[in-house]
Amino acid sequence: MRNSRSIITTRPQTLKAAALAAVAAACAALAGPANVAAAGQDVEANRHASGEESSPYATFLANYVEWVRTIEIEGQAHSIALTPKQIELAARIGIEHPEKVRLVYVDEIPFPSEDPQMRKIGEELGFVGPGITNNAQAFGYTIWVRNGFDLTWPLLAHELVHVQQIERNASSAPSWKNT
Ligand SMILES: [Zn+2]
Repeated sequence: MRNSRSIITTRPQTLKAAALAAVAAACAALAGPANVAAAGQDVEANRHASGEESSPYATFLANYVEWVRTIEIEGQAHSIALTPKQIELAARIGIEHPEKVRLVYVDEIPFPSEDPQMRKIGEELGFVGPGITNNAQAFGYTIWVRNGFDLTWPLLAHELVHVQQIERNASSAPSWKNT
């Protein structure tokens, strides 16, 4: 959460920041060697050093946002609504429509790995790859949780913060949406 927030606030205009913000919902739930923010910074440093103008993140972002839309709809279909106590927490965190939040339990948190380009950037950002297990991630109003993972109250709160960020970004019509 801290990582994604600092990226959003310090570099709001870059596509990389937008791409990271889009995928950062997994940050604290990732169990693995990679640090998402650090991985992203390394990728950008390499890109700048090579003098490349076009950003692979533009394509990644567009595809990822599109994919997230699909996955959110899919998740809604077999999801669990929050309990009244959880809704209260969501409201306290600042989610405008806490009644829309759903929990989705799955064997594996999805990622568009079947697309080679998506997989490549996912690996660069530290979201997929050997030794990396994603335990929980927010896609829109759906919070996906790996079966067997103990989503404690603090971790639920953490994911709800991401839902709040996503909700806020969606309602403020971010500039990167059309790029
Ligand atoms: Zn997080």
